[in-house]
Amino acid sequence: MARALGLISGGLDSLLAAELLRRQGARVTGITFTSPFFGASRARRAAESLGLDLLVEDITDPHWALVKDPPRGYGKNMNPCLDCHALMLRKAGRRLGPGGFDFLFTGEVLGQRPFSQNRQSLWLVERDSGLAGRIVRPLSARRLDPTEPEKTGLVDRERLLDISGRGRKRQLALAEAWGITVFAAPAGGCLLTVPSFAVRLRDLLDVRPEAGPDEVELIKTGRYFRLPGGEIIIVGRHQADNERLWSLARPRDVLAEQPGPPGPTALVLGGGGESVRRVAAAMAVHFSRTDDRQPVPVLIRSPEGEQTLLVRGEEAEPYLDRLI
Ligand code: SF4
Repeated sequence: MARALGLISGGLDSLLAAELLRRQGARVTGITFTSPFFGASRARRAAESLGLDLLVEDITDPHWALVKDPPRGYGKNMNPCLDCHALMLRKAGRRLGPGGFDFLFTGEVLGQRPFSQNRQSLWLVERDSGLAGRIVRPLSARRLDPTEPEKTGLVDRERLLDISGRGRKRQLALAEAWGITVFAAPAGGCLLTVPSFAVRLRDLLDVRPEAGPDEVELIKTGRYFRLPGGEIIIVGRHQADNERLWSLARPRDVLAEQPGPPGPTALVLGGGGESVRRVAAAMAVHFSRTDDRQPVPVLIRSPEGEQTLLVRGEEAEPYLDRLI
């Protein structure tokens, strides 16, 4: 029995590809990946509903390196899809071989995504991953050159499909015929494709090229302000944001919060001098219910210890349009 390992995103196409191979007798397992930009929950839900075993692998470090400097460039936002796909395939490819899997498959459909699923991109990703000829794309296979598993008879090419283009009709009809009802929407699931987040991330990398995945976690939270000197202040929007900022803050970050009345936490990413701390403190007041004109004490936690600054919320006003 052929042992197939497929990249499962949780979207319909990868599930159909898995089911197509299963229906011709292959033993199918899925694999999905995690990073600060995407998680495994969509894939887990979909795999579970299909009764598919799912492997989950964290690729934070190599993926972050690609996000910072993608050899094949970005898609529409900060998504380095070609390099990301090649990385995922390379990681999955390590599980091929004796005692492991015979071949890989994906749910890619020729022509469905202009940047990452045209003929040239599919070929480039295959070459970059070092797995040329070993990746079956069951949904479009008959429009592509035969792969090794098809040539050796491990996979019956005649029972694979010839779908291409952006339409979803054939996929939806198959889903209905096969009773596949749990799957994620085609877009979504990767923060790098979200324009508002991409702008923040681009800004972070502009001013802090040394930033690591820990700073990505921080900029996923709250309001993001970039000051003229390049400092970044994040202000919680609600209690959950504030708690997240406190739990994610590193010793070098500066935190500002009013000690008494409820209000937001403000965090200076990577720390900053007295003037920046003052702005953070003023933001912690401005976004609370405290009167902006009254001087109030704000507690500052910094690498040097704790201090109290007396500030007015209105001191934040010159910086409010620096929101990203
Ligand atoms: S959308 Fe995100 S997870 Fe998907 S290939 Fe592109 S970068 Fe990778």
